[in-house]
Amino acid sequence: MTTADIIHLLPDSIANQIAAGEVVQRPASVVKELLENSVDAQAHHVQVIIRDAGKTLIQVIDDGLGMSETDARMCFERHATSKIRNSDDLFRIRTMGFRGEALASIAAVAQVELRSRRVGDELGTLLRIEGSEVKFQESIATLTGTNLLVKNLFFNVPARRNFLKANSVEMRHILDEFQRIALAHPEVSFSLYHNDVEIFNLYAGKLVRRIVDIFGKTYREQLAFCQEDTSYISVRGYIGKPEFARKTRGEQFFFVNERYIKHSYLHHAVISAFDGTIPEGSHPFYVLFIEIDPSHVDINIHPTKTEIKFDDERSVYAIIMAAVKKAVGVYNMTPPIDFDD
Ligand code: ADP
Ligand code: MG
Repeated sequence: MTTADIIHLLPDSIANQIAAGEVVQRPASVVKELLENSVDAQAHHVQVIIRDAGKTLIQVIDDGLGMSETDARMCFERHATSKIRNSDDLFRIRTMGFRGEALASIAAVAQVELRSRRVGDELGTLLRIEGSEVKFQESIATLTGTNLLVKNLFFNVPARRNFLKANSVEMRHILDEFQRIALAHPEVSFSLYHNDVEIFNLYAGKLVRRIVDIFGKTYREQLAFCQEDTSYISVRGYIGKPEFARKTRGEQFFFVNERYIKHSYLHHAVISAFDGTIPEGSHPFYVLFIEIDPSHVDINIHPTKTEIKFDDERSVYAIIMAAVKKAVGVYNMTPPIDFDD
């Protein structure tokens, strides 16, 4: 007995919606993806406008490179990216993005409005797209850079929409993502508004200034500079002095080639370096930047890219521990930070 074949390719809109399940978990995921795109587009100023904790509106306006009319259409296709071309490029990634999934995923589960213009182009492009479907396109006069509005996230995925938490919780996640990217890029100015209230207005400057602008003036005297250079990695950043350690976690930041990562093994390296100087169970503040040849890390193990693998994790551990130990050891003898960057 023969029967008809039953396998068929899914339409793009459904494939995108499925992919969105991984990339877009909540409004904060959208904020993260859009901010990363602005940074990758070499923006100097980035403005974030949020309504109702991102449930009704997330808008990111940048003064970056902008897009051509064709690229403005292409950027919503799945696996469409300007950041890599071949598999070798996967081992030299310097940009935040490279998977070409974010905008396709976001446009599958929201109503999106894009305005973008490149320097030198007379007109820019306006595009409205809803559940992966282009609804409207027009050439328009607009500022250089990119202005993306994401409205009514999960409007077509009720289960996801109902799963969203209270505004205070969703806003906390947005602030976390915003702070991570703002910390990683003190050379870029960022502002954040929620329901017309200014939450952050961060001017471009040095890392110390960014830390103080985000966490408060009291942090200035609490920071100790930290640096260690080896042929494998270099580590640079600030740790909070031991007496500043807190019971609550949340102010510990690792960046690898400017990408925020979570890494419990490396966190342990820092804690070990503080050994004996902080009470058990308390957490020191730190913002540490690890620079490494991209061929020595794999950042492709998870779509949100907050987990990464080093080819020699033990060395990274040892170098971080040495760097922090040195900083903990000398902070008493040196005046507070004047030796930024
Ligand atoms: P990825 O960042 O992984 O390439 P995205 O879906 O986030 O994938 O974006 C797709 C492409 O759209 C990017 O590669 C980039 O060329 C373009 N793009 C997205 N956001 C911006 C922006 N703010 N400014 C300029 N180009 C952008
Ligand atoms: Mg991206």
